[in-house]
Amino acid sequence: MKRVAAFLILAAVSAFAKDVQVGVLGLFHPKEVHVSAEQGRPLECGHTAGHQWQLQLVRSQMKITSEGRALVADSMACDDGHGGDAEFRVTVPGRISRHYRGKLEIKPAHGELLMIVTMDLETAVASVVAAESPPNAPMEALKAQAVAARSFLAAGGQRHHDFAFCDTTHCQFLRAPPSATSPAVQATNATRGLVLAYQDHAFAAMYSASCGGRTHSLEELGLRVRDYPYFAVECPYCRRHPEKWVTRISETDASSLAPTEQSRLNLARKLGWKALPSNSYSTHKDESSVLVEGTGAGHGLGLCQRGGADMARRGASFAAILRHYYPNTELKQI
Ligand SMILES: [Zn+2]
Ligand SMILES: [Zn+2]
Repeated sequence: MKRVAAFLILAAVSAFAKDVQVGVLGLFHPKEVHVSAEQGRPLECGHTAGHQWQLQLVRSQMKITSEGRALVADSMACDDGHGGDAEFRVTVPGRISRHYRGKLEIKPAHGELLMIVTMDLETAVASVVAAESPPNAPMEALKAQAVAARSFLAAGGQRHHDFAFCDTTHCQFLRAPPSATSPAVQATNATRGLVLAYQDHAFAAMYSASCGGRTHSLEELGLRVRDYPYFAVECPYCRRHPEKWVTRISETDASSLAPTEQSRLNLARKLGWKALPSNSYSTHKDESSVLVEGTGAGHGLGLCQRGGADMARRGASFAAILRHYYPNTELKQI
């Protein structure tokens, strides 16, 4: 009996953990990484204060060079020197350089350097809102996006082996934390702690860029229902202004095509996302190949970012936008 109670408490804590673990820049498969202090703020890596650390993968370990000293280690952890969040920059030489806020861990795995940033939930939400939203998105649409992003992070569990979330659209697109005065931070602060709940449970809300005129339920896409089933709803803006696309695929690829998200993923793995940008399409066979005509971008589940922005421009509140795209849900404070 006691064990059950302890488990329930743990489950509640982990479901609403305040920090989230994000694997960053994995897209670049780095073998060399530089870490440096940002904005003159204190940074300690491997319990040593400094300004810059250069890490190189050497077989299954890392060579760490800092202030003219070099050592070999299995991992390196960075914080502000007091176990708190630091401001730092991670650079993959010749590829990308990005600022983060949180605690950093770097370790070798699968022949590359894995970078895991443990950040405050609200920092992660603001970073996702800034990365996922188009410029000039109206404030109420940004707030709806913030609630959806927070729900995904708070209830999404562990989606990867070495960390909870990645920073690509596989999970949610995430870049640097936006400035304190940015619309993304304003939208995040205005909805602080709010998540979507279905039958009283927070769920990992999914959303997509453009639904094509009508969103999908999980069942329509052949997906198993774990927490929220999603409901197909009309999206008047996309209905009036559908984002049309046309692609051409081989008869062999077309023959394996089914109206499911899995089928779209399989084809994307083989031909790239542009082969089948959404789940709303029709096929027409011609002489040697198959023409695919469709509308929208993304899986079409939950919030449609285009439709949500249009509702906001017409005066809808973020709560009304969320009620429309996630029927039968309620807002809950975590
Ligand atoms: Zn992911
Ligand atoms: Zn739409």
